Amino acid sequence: MDRLQVPAAQLGPGELPFYAEQGEECRVFAHAHAQRLPLLIKGPTGCGKTRFVEHMAARLGRPLITVSCHDDLTAADLVGRFLIQDGATVWSDGPLTRAVRQGALCYLDEVVEARRDTTVVLHPLADDRRMLPIERTGEQIAAAPGFMLVISYNPGYQNLLKSLKPSTRQRFVALQMGYPAPEVEQRIVQTESACDERLSQQLVRLAAALRRLGEHDLEETVSTRLLVAAARLAVAGLPLHLAVQAAIVDALTDEADTAAALAEVVSAVL
Ligand code: ADP
Repeated sequence: MDRLQVPAAQLGPGELPFYAEQGEECRVFAHAHAQRLPLLIKGPTGCGKTRFVEHMAARLGRPLITVSCHDDLTAADLVGRFLIQDGATVWSDGPLTRAVRQGALCYLDEVVEARRDTTVVLHPLADDRRMLPIERTGEQIAAAPGFMLVISYNPGYQNLLKSLKPSTRQRFVALQMGYPAPEVEQRIVQTESACDERLSQQLVRLAAALRRLGEHDLEETVSTRLLVAAARLAVAGLPLHLAVQAAIVDALTDEADTAAALAEVVSAVL
């Protein structure tokens, strides 16, 4: 047995977020954590990256601090800032600093969305030094054991791909994720929505057909997340065609022509 296989059985039911593995990603993650290597997870939106990180944090018994990155996110938002409280100036740790002190997993979701200066603060943390320099206070914090930096991005957005600099990128070991294989995706849809096997089969078959359409007019195709959403609406009593229209077709596009093309595929498959 892999000596780094994490004993999930030690956790009570309900404590471990459900995650259906696509391949060997849990092993890769556990080894990266043990070797104190930061991890870059690549994959389309809604393919399970966040759930995977939540699952691994629970299995490794580490707290998880997640930051959803956006284009206004600055280094100070991650590291911390001085605040005025009752007339006095006090330092307030940002989420990255808290994770470094606690030995938590810090997950920066869609990191390339953040302003470029933010990635620079990650550099000394992401190599052998495992240090977080806080310019404002002059502190140098060594990452507590157990700390791990995990970042994700979506290579589908070509323009953003360019903005992850090689000097940042090469500090991380990388894991490529995609949409799960049909049997796995079916299990996910069923578990997440409590739908029956037949509905999960139908939705996964629909996903295969829509994904075959290619991404001509779509920035992204149907994700596992959207399939789960459609199944949940249907389980709650919404007729399937309305559930699929709302959770998949209209969720994917604003264009009437594209929506019509998607709807045609839907009616051919369901
Ligand atoms: P991402 O972070 O890649 O955008 P998420 O992890 O938020 O995607 O996944 C979206 C939803 O899809 C989850 O809330 C869950 O319901 C479902 N899901 C996707 N992949 C998996 C998986 N492998 N195991 C369990 N649930 C999954």
